[in-house]
Amino acid sequence: MSSGNTKLSQVLLFPSSGMAHLVPFVRLANALSDRGISISLLTVRPTITAAESSLLSSLPSSLLIDFPLAPLDPSLFPESSDPVTLRWEAIRRSAHLLPSLISTLSPPVSSLIIDITIASAFLPVAVAANIPCFVFFISFASMLALCSVFPFVPRPIGTNINIAGGVLKIPYSSIPPPLRDPNNLFTTQFIENGRALTLANGVIVNTFLALEPELLAAFSAGEVVPEFPPVIALGPLPLEKKQPSSPSPAVRWLDEQPEKSVIYVNFGSCSVLSMEQIRELGAGLEMSGCRFLWVVKTAKVDRDEKAVEIEELLGEGYVKRVEERGLVVRKWVEQDVVLVHRAVAGFLCHSGANSVMEAAAAGLKILAWPRRADQMVIAASVPRSGLGIWPENWACEAEKRIVAAEEIALKVREFMADEKLAKSAAKLRAAATAAVQEGGTSDQSLRYLITKLAQLCLKWRNQLVLPSFSTFGPPVDLCNFKSTQK
Ligand code: UDP
Repeated sequence: MSSGNTKLSQVLLFPSSGMAHLVPFVRLANALSDRGISISLLTVRPTITAAESSLLSSLPSSLLIDFPLAPLDPSLFPESSDPVTLRWEAIRRSAHLLPSLISTLSPPVSSLIIDITIASAFLPVAVAANIPCFVFFISFASMLALCSVFPFVPRPIGTNINIAGGVLKIPYSSIPPPLRDPNNLFTTQFIENGRALTLANGVIVNTFLALEPELLAAFSAGEVVPEFPPVIALGPLPLEKKQPSSPSPAVRWLDEQPEKSVIYVNFGSCSVLSMEQIRELGAGLEMSGCRFLWVVKTAKVDRDEKAVEIEELLGEGYVKRVEERGLVVRKWVEQDVVLVHRAVAGFLCHSGANSVMEAAAAGLKILAWPRRADQMVIAASVPRSGLGIWPENWACEAEKRIVAAEEIALKVREFMADEKLAKSAAKLRAAATAAVQEGGTSDQSLRYLITKLAQLCLKWRNQLVLPSFSTFGPPVDLCNFKSTQK
């Protein structure tokens, strides 16, 4: 990533927290700087996860600007609060610090691209400071649709949610579980962010037309929310250019496997299976007889990961029994490299938005097993787009039900043998490739964004004035969580 050539002003990108946010922001930053837009990334350090820290340290330090946090009293929130959601909250409550930071930056900031999770706190600040602000919605258009209508859905939610006259139907069981609790911190943030979206100059989404055609059309027609800002669907964003200097053990192992023989199993950066489910999955993969590369996590935050041996997790003798055809790893793998490896034929995946988009770009079929958050909404797009299958009876995290080894083995075998699915996934890759090629729908969206940002740079240059910042107080205090949360 370079800082581009438009040095008279810059675009400030602000990912909030979590790898699922940082990864697409870095990809977007790359895409913009490749087209001559001068960019910087606002970061909050230390990061919550080691993976974020490692990704940030791979970027030129001159592109990173530290954003200060106002103190946040953690005792206001339940102890069980998700650390990433709490970090979002800390950033949101520090939005008033943005103008003074921006006033010190050179070149001056001509526009902002902020993460959806902090939108309702930062959009009013940007509007008051007269700085154009785009929101980057890092998930799919289906989640964007849910986010934008959710503030207007009667609560408590007790039923399915129909969007744009039924263009998108989200069953109650797929609604992200925290949203069913009106007192959850995530719910409050989600509602406020959804409501604030109309203040944005545009909403960027890492999806493409062939993946969510009806919904993207409904957004354009104003059928999701009237007067909604332009939805800029520019996915799949290009992957990082920098490959690790030496391949990891996982990739070296893949190098030794036959063509299109391996199922890659990874539940993403922050989803964890129970110990019992890990053992059933281990037994299921073994029973399936298929070759597999499996990344096992036992903690939501990688820094909390205990040095538990694989044998301790999966039982004595497991590694030896599967060594001819299975590799279990406990570390982060370079997924962008794994997904396009010639030995990989399928992806058992939690349906994180980035993982699904990366698989679509690679034309790799998915066996979806969503666990939490937006994963059930994303998983629905897997069969819908022909990218893969979703056995809907496989339990998510909240259900606490265990999917048995025999059932996993059977499904994995069927999935790996399914040639028709491999072909339809390859077809989706062709559509993804066409979308980002010159003149494709995503390429046009990226050009639209670049033109807008470049115009804003020019406007800035011609005006040659700095914004007049008024003093912003902290955002209105959100409800008092301590007394309302369980
Ligand atoms: N990822 C990776 N290696 C891993 C786990 C995840 O490179 O071992 C990357 C993955 O490619 C994706 C991001 O981390 O870009 C995870 O985002 P996603 O939306 O898929 O899932 P989440 O983190 O929300 O669970």
